[in-house]
Amino acid sequence: MKLRPLVTLLLLFAAALTSTPATAISAKDTLRIDVPEKSRQQGQFFTVKVADTSSKPELWFMERNYAMFRQPDSSWKALVPVENLARPGSYALLIRTDRLEQKIPVFVKPNYRKVQHIRLSPSKQAIKATSIEKTRIKDALQTESPEKRYKGVFLRPSPGRISSMFGLKRSYDGGPVTSYHKGIDISAPQGTPVKSTAEGRVILTGTVAEGYVLHGNTVVIDHGQGLTAIYMHLHSITVKEGQNVDKGEIIGTVGHTGISTAPHLHWGTYLYGTSVDPLLFLGHAY
Ligand SMILES: [Zn+2]
Repeated sequence: MKLRPLVTLLLLFAAALTSTPATAISAKDTLRIDVPEKSRQQGQFFTVKVADTSSKPELWFMERNYAMFRQPDSSWKALVPVENLARPGSYALLIRTDRLEQKIPVFVKPNYRKVQHIRLSPSKQAIKATSIEKTRIKDALQTESPEKRYKGVFLRPSPGRISSMFGLKRSYDGGPVTSYHKGIDISAPQGTPVKSTAEGRVILTGTVAEGYVLHGNTVVIDHGQGLTAIYMHLHSITVKEGQNVDKGEIIGTVGHTGISTAPHLHWGTYLYGTSVDPLLFLGHAY
């Protein structure tokens, strides 16, 4: 497996012979990449760090390009999501600069989440997402702002029991699996304060009256560098779009607006628009 560095060295040597100034071969001629997690489950993500490079690194995973973000120490970083329905198996993270390219093998494991059979009451069954909630929420969750706002381990947004896990596959009224649970549900009485789990900026507030009939009263927060969070089914919203929020700041209260059978908070976290398990952010700082 020493072939690639050798080939690189030979190419650089050849380049040094043909171009005029003889450049010394330094440590900068290999990419220094750190991927702490070599295997992850569906619905989780890989942390990719690249030490200072001659140009902004390009990152590819499962045929999709992910922006890398500059860190204060001049390194580059990205949290690369593994979609919950991605096929388990061996993959590679490809990192490329203007001069160098490297592949890091990684493994995606199944998460064995169960299929949840959901029966909707006739009144709830008739509810379809409106175009405003579909497009505005999708756009908000795909936000990739360069500044990293979140610091350290996240807080739980509300007290209460987790009544539904992330990633459960869903079948409605006996039909096929068409989706999965893109967050966790925390069961709590209506009116319980909901806190922002980390520092961020409010990029969306939407109410039932404005057309958020399925999601209910909703808040989306941009934590920066491709990470966003959604809070759904709120009773009240106490923040405004464009407002910065601190970790622990109250953004609203628990309710059961939209498609919901009992008061609970739905909290979802997204990387580059792909839903990942929010619990990952409670146990570890990224
Ligand atoms: Zn939910």
